[in-house]
Amino acid sequence: MSKKNVFQFLDLPRTMPQRIPLELRTSGDWSELYGKFDKPDAQYQAGRCLDCGNPYCSWKCPVHNAIPQWLQLVQENRITEAAELCHSTNPLPEVCGRVCPQDRLCEGACTLEEFGAVTIGAVEKFITDTALAAGWRPDLSDVQATGKRVAVIGAGPAGIGCADRLVRAGIHAVVFDRYEQIGGLLQFGIPTFKLEKSVIAKRREVLEGMGVEFRLGVEIGRDITLEQLLEDFDAVFLGTGAYRYTDGGLIGQDLEGVLPALPFLVQNGRIVGGNDPWGRPIAGWEDKLAVPDLAGKRVVVLGGGDTGMDCVRSAIRLGAARVTCAYRRDEANMPGSAREVANAREEGVRFLFNRQPLAIEGDADGKTIGVRVVETRLGEPDERGRQNAVPIEGSESLLDADVVIIAFGFSPSVPEWLASAGVQGTPNGRIVAGGDDRLPFQTHHPKLFAGGDAVRGADLVVTAVAEGRDAAGSIAQLVLR
Ligand code: FAD
Ligand code: SF4
Repeated sequence: MSKKNVFQFLDLPRTMPQRIPLELRTSGDWSELYGKFDKPDAQYQAGRCLDCGNPYCSWKCPVHNAIPQWLQLVQENRITEAAELCHSTNPLPEVCGRVCPQDRLCEGACTLEEFGAVTIGAVEKFITDTALAAGWRPDLSDVQATGKRVAVIGAGPAGIGCADRLVRAGIHAVVFDRYEQIGGLLQFGIPTFKLEKSVIAKRREVLEGMGVEFRLGVEIGRDITLEQLLEDFDAVFLGTGAYRYTDGGLIGQDLEGVLPALPFLVQNGRIVGGNDPWGRPIAGWEDKLAVPDLAGKRVVVLGGGDTGMDCVRSAIRLGAARVTCAYRRDEANMPGSAREVANAREEGVRFLFNRQPLAIEGDADGKTIGVRVVETRLGEPDERGRQNAVPIEGSESLLDADVVIIAFGFSPSVPEWLASAGVQGTPNGRIVAGGDDRLPFQTHHPKLFAGGDAVRGADLVVTAVAEGRDAAGSIAQLVLR
């Protein structure tokens, strides 16, 4: 590798790719917010890497990307090699480059922090988009077919990560999903302003080119039994995600104008994408179709995570008159990405911190009129080290609202068809995988493996990818021995 000026970061400030102008974002433009670096910009930004010799960025990245190495390849204009290196650790680099909360992961660990971290995510997106657009595809010509077959349930990041690694090991992967498109929450959850859906379509083309087979619109446990899969395949991977909605049990949550976050985002995403808004309903919400007509409305979103941020920013694009995010802790404790919070604020979202909802109030016709909240202060840390929100007596007030979106999060559950096969779950519904004398990611049924949100609880795209990828290694150990 060529010798470089390691102090380039002193002359070149950190920059992100250009964003869609604010006036478009606030008047209904759903395009991906961040544009793409052109080659010189990507090279400048990659050149800011100090090559510090102790790449905390790689350690903090859940898939342990070889970040300094691919930044160097970009500077040398060796984009194909950079793409190969990206894919050697990450089956979905273009997606992670877009949606990872980099401020908490790789970029948050960059040695250059006080000078502005290297824009790692945007360079990862540049590398993959550029290579794929130029026709580069993973080279599997050396892979020997083993004759083994594995079923993957769930075409989300965990399932995709697993299928990618299985086919690279010569194992035929058949991915089943109940929805009509691949991607899981990438497709039916995350809005287009964070992730254009054409990115997922391109990845499907890549995966199919590698030999991954998708069987979509098929729900395991309903259309096909698990027993059938266990008979037809050498092993099964469960990447079924976390879809048990946390509603908070608020009084008034059944009033007209109260929407659960995910159906709202999914239905809206289908409309924005030009698809049938009533497509296949989200499981569990068949009778609760959310209507995203928010024009001129006062919207309050409850919850401060990624889902909450997607809801407030969607509401802005849908023409809401006023959008408020109420969160029970302070800003420093918000689980959502700081970058997304900054974008939401810029787009006009009002944040009310230290406000805990008590009830949703309605008028005589059953229509929502507001959320009763109480102010909080931060108390003692809980068993996970997070400070509890303690209500302050006498500080109640009503936040006016026509629409309230509940975004308190999701958790997994072990369905009956898995439990009856011997798959065990924790009390909060996570599938138990690995541990004791089991292989990593192996459940209590020897042929069933699991990873992603179904095992971790609602988390991140990159952690789901990492688990799917690593579970494939365990599956290979079982079926190829
Ligand atoms: P999923 O993506 O949920 O995929 C599971 C798949 O399994 C689904 O397609 C489902 O249809 C399928 N399935 C389930 N049961 C069956 C069955 N019985 N038969 C057939 N198919 C089945 N993470 C980030 O890193 N950055 C973000 O910006 C971000 N934003 C988010 C925004 C929202 C609104 C939400 C809800 C989540 C967000 N996340 C984000 C989290 C991230 O999307 C998830 O952690 C990740 O998608 C989990 O991947 P997974 O493969 O485990 O599950
Ligand atoms: Fe950073 Fe995510 Fe890419 Fe890892 S996968 S380098 S955490 S953007």
